[in-house]
This record gives sequence, C-alpha cells and structure tokens, in this order.
Amino acid sequence: MGKRPYDFSEETLRAVFARQRGLCASCGEDLNDQSISDNPNAHHVYENQIGDPNNPDHDWLRSPDNCVYLCSDLYKTAKPGEKLEGCHHHVGHNDNSSTGAAGSAEHFLFSHDGIENSPNHQAWAKSITERGENLYNIRGALSQMRLLQATLKNSIDLYSSEHKAQLDLVTQSFAGFWTNNLFNSKPPEIGIWLNSYSYILRSGTELSHGNLKQGAIAYFRARHHYLKALGAYSKWKDGIEGAGTKMQWAIGVSAVTVVASFVVLVR
Ligand SMILES: [Zn+2]
Repeated sequence: MGKRPYDFSEETLRAVFARQRGLCASCGEDLNDQSISDNPNAHHVYENQIGDPNNPDHDWLRSPDNCVYLCSDLYKTAKPGEKLEGCHHHVGHNDNSSTGAAGSAEHFLFSHDGIENSPNHQAWAKSITERGENLYNIRGALSQMRLLQATLKNSIDLYSSEHKAQLDLVTQSFAGFWTNNLFNSKPPEIGIWLNSYSYILRSGTELSHGNLKQGAIAYFRARHHYLKALGAYSKWKDGIEGAGTKMQWAIGVSAVTVVASFVVLVR
C-alpha cells in the first residue's frame, strides 16, 4: 500500500503530540499511559478525501492544524479480551470510520496546551472549520457545475444533430425537395453550434481539473452561444424565435443556484 496523499509526516505527528501535551484531544486521557493506550491514533480533522492532491491550496490537509491525536480502539479495555472503542472511532468518525465522516473541530476540546477548551483551542477550531467548510463549498459547487456542463453538452449534441439531420433532409433527399418548400427561409449553417460546442468542451476540461472559476466562465460562454444558436435554429424550424424558451427557462433556474454559490466563493 502506498501512502495516501495527505498522510502526516513524523515531524507533524510529534508537533501535534506536543501541542496536546500527550492528551487525547477529545476525552483528555493521558496517551502516554501505556496501561490505557499503546496505540494513539492521529486523525484528520478534515478527511483526506476532500482534497485534490494536485492543488497546493489543499496542502493544509496534511499540516499539524488538520491533525489531532485521539485515543484508539484499544483504549478503555476494561478486562483482557473485552474491547471498547475509543475516541477515534466514536468522536473522530461519528461511529463510522469507514466513510471518513468526521467530527467537527470544536469537539476536540483538548486540542491545545493540555487544557480543556483553551483559548488556543478556540482560535484553532474557528480557523480550521472555516478552511474545511470552504473546501466543502468548492466541492459542492464543482459537482453542481459538472452536472450543468453535462446537461448543456447533451442539449448542444441533441439540437446540433437534429439540425444536421434536417439539413441532410432538405438538401439531399427527394422528400427534402418538398420539405424545403415548407420553409420560407434559408436554413442556418450547422456552424452556428461551433462556439457553444468548443466552450462546453473547455468547461468540461477545466472542471475535470478542479478549476471551478474557469469551468464556470466557459460554461456561461457556452450557454450564451447555445441560446443564440438555438434561437436561430428554432426560428427557422418552427418559424418562431422563442421555441426554445421552455428549455432556456429550465437551464436558467439551475444556473442561478450555481451563480449564487459561486459568488459566495469568490467574495
Ligand atoms: Zn479519548
């Protein structure tokens, strides 16, 4: 097994143990006491999984700030053979260590100085919670943006293929002769979809690299060009400019949600 990207270094572990004066960050038991624990656990306050190892802004996930020592599952063994679970399982992972779900920083009252709820603990809890929540928000906005990107790409694919099929019908088939006479204007070029297509692909690439801002900018450009092309296409096909209105409305509503979360992030 290789190391996970945010494993703590030996140096970090020593610094955290010293910061806590050797006490469990949650219950305050002395972790140096071999009779109660031979295996204290270093715990990520914000879990490994929320970080992107390629993004240096997430490096704090392996810093001492994101680490607490907790008593392990071996602690609180009342009798030989009887295993009671320690704080790492209960507090660190809300009784569920498999999902990586974490308890919040403010609950690690002994995180600093060997004193319960010290001023250093309070300042640390506030700062680490802010950083963690920010990362969660970015992740949420990214997954929303990915969904929007995929939906818009589907729409562009759908309407540009339909457009292509219509053009083939008009220009190539016998039936097309008659079809052609049903329309009173020249059909728009298939190229009207190109801008929206290239922007939606760029948006997808940016989002897959975790670049929320660039991904969102490309998405909104794609959407702008898509609505323009859809307007031209439906005006020709249906003879009315606003044929795509229903779809525009649906896209507009979800886009507003993303814009709102995006504005929060870049303030
Ligand atoms: Zn404990």
